[in-house]
Amino acid sequence: MKAAWIEQFGGTEVINVSSYPEPVRKTDEVLVKMLAATLNHHDIYLRRGEAGRCALPVVLGSDGVGVVVDADPSSSYRVGQYVVIYPVLACGSCINCKNQLPHKCISFGMIGGERNGTHAEYVVIPEKCLVLLPQDLNPHVAASISLAGLTAWNMVVDEGIAQSGEQALVFGASGGVGVFVVFLLKRLGVTVHAVTSSPAKRDALYSLGVDHVLDDQAAAVLRHTAQLPNRGVDLAFNCVGGSTWRYTLPAVRSGGRILVCGTVRSPIAEIDLRQIFYRNISLIGCTMGTPTALSQILSIAATDSKFHVPIDTTVSLDEIVRQHDRMEAASLVGKIIIQMA
Ligand SMILES: [Zn+2]
Repeated sequence: MKAAWIEQFGGTEVINVSSYPEPVRKTDEVLVKMLAATLNHHDIYLRRGEAGRCALPVVLGSDGVGVVVDADPSSSYRVGQYVVIYPVLACGSCINCKNQLPHKCISFGMIGGERNGTHAEYVVIPEKCLVLLPQDLNPHVAASISLAGLTAWNMVVDEGIAQSGEQALVFGASGGVGVFVVFLLKRLGVTVHAVTSSPAKRDALYSLGVDHVLDDQAAAVLRHTAQLPNRGVDLAFNCVGGSTWRYTLPAVRSGGRILVCGTVRSPIAEIDLRQIFYRNISLIGCTMGTPTALSQILSIAATDSKFHVPIDTTVSLDEIVRQHDRMEAASLVGKIIIQMA
């Protein structure tokens, strides 16, 4: 079968888009013919060797939608059913798994990481890593939700507990997770202030529903947030990292919370810890979310007429290398869809 895979870590030159052995299904696993997947920053971190332990070679890709082609006779999935992939691999027995929080598993792993991923014509997926595609939901939309929408739900709803009337500051609002963060915040009645370093993205951000677009400069951001009713935002979402942390902390009101899900610019940040404890700020890291969260956001996407996910571009597997370059250059708005069939 055709797949995008690596046998060493490095730049985009290490990506092979070529023949790869077809996966062999074991008990409790489902063989899925992929329809669509998307590109996520996790694919880039993995390819560079920055995503933790991972045996090589490995097929990239953690999310997506496909059709069941083989399953156990006792499986709850039938041949021909459309399924959405839940990217989290969890042990099922640690303290967090017992508390129904597999994304916090002590032995956390990911499809397209600790096992072969979805940028392929076929993939074998543990049955517990699948949910049914809701009726009437476009497979490309569902594929884009499978990882990025799930993480956004975790940040906004389960961990951020965003409330109507609150003010939120969002870094990376045009990115894969950011577009879902903005949608969910607006749906809950939160005022959204988005920071961008790209003037070309201003119109796109307003069309996503952002209320105020701010230039990515410390003085501009802090001047704007200081005049808000609570002298700062209630919540900040930062998936950018690096120097943006110098003005993320002071932009948040006392008692506010900061959600972190990425480091697109740099994983290293210098912060003044006094800003956290003297002002009782909560700093919350987020990766993925629960299977219930995935089902909830898929259900909203299928039933809320206002739901919209911007698709930056749709490509075949053959064009995936160039899309890695584009994602690393942060030159896109929304999701890159990889169409397999
Ligand atoms: Zn576990």
